[in-house]
Amino acid sequence: MSTNILQHYVQKMKRLRVDKAHGAAPHKPLLLLAVIELIEQGQIHENKITLSPELAETFLKYWSKVVTNRRPDITLPFFHLKSEGFWHFHANAGYEKALSVASRIRSVSQFRKVVMYVSLDTDLFVLLTNPHDREVIRQTLIRFYLPDFKQDVENLLTEGEQIKEHRQELLRQVENAFSAENPIEPVQAETPIRKAAFRQAIMVMYNYTCAVCRLRVLTMDGESVTEAAHIIPFSISGNDDVRNGISLCQLHHWAFDRGLISLGKTYKVIVSEFMSEQGPREWLLSELRDKSIFLPEHDQLYPAQDALAWHREEVLRR
Ligand SMILES: [Zn+2]
Repeated sequence: MSTNILQHYVQKMKRLRVDKAHGAAPHKPLLLLAVIELIEQGQIHENKITLSPELAETFLKYWSKVVTNRRPDITLPFFHLKSEGFWHFHANAGYEKALSVASRIRSVSQFRKVVMYVSLDTDLFVLLTNPHDREVIRQTLIRFYLPDFKQDVENLLTEGEQIKEHRQELLRQVENAFSAENPIEPVQAETPIRKAAFRQAIMVMYNYTCAVCRLRVLTMDGESVTEAAHIIPFSISGNDDVRNGISLCQLHHWAFDRGLISLGKTYKVIVSEFMSEQGPREWLLSELRDKSIFLPEHDQLYPAQDALAWHREEVLRR
């Protein structure tokens, strides 16, 4: 990429029209930083940006460090960046006209209805996929709009990078045989980075879906009904191998940890008799008996048989 093109976009970034009416609320730079981070993490891998929970979560992460006196609203910059000339909306079929005349889209559901995705100028997207050019643009945004928060933003970036590295390391472990007792790389303490990396890996493997009931609920600030459960508890095994993990909704995580449900060799649900339950039939644990669970795409990532056997032996209530 020529230096001229990079310089062209550096100048554009310096001249973003930002809202100053209500004090510093740098919506646009923060959204661009979030987009840059997702490109860097590989979560945005083609020139199609959607108003996804992952983007909202990343935007909010920056927002909470920088702005304390206003409520965040990602729909504002997501819409108004179009006036900068490099942020292009692509309408869903039938909404082309509505989108071209809209002066503002105020809700996430409205965006979903009207906008299929946003693309950047191709040149800009290519710049952002290049580590050097991406860093130049990121530093320009920080220097111009967030000079007082340089260190905070740097810390967030370092943390994000550490989580990513640890997540990749966890996923590489599946090339080795699973060991229930002696994790290949024992993890000494439950650190926030370790916890976040394990959670991210499991959520991506199961697409934020409960393996048992297939419920998937994600809020626009990145919260999910599902949790990354350890099959052999971390406190016992110290084992963060992703094959010692499974994505479960809060109800089924609770039931799994208490041994009211477990999993058989063929990944079917085992339900304990050690309880009584009442309520709508579709919510009863006993309705899950012998149902096949939802599994990751690759069988390398399936829950380890040794871990499941341990759970049946040690946790399942008979
Ligand atoms: Zn569930």
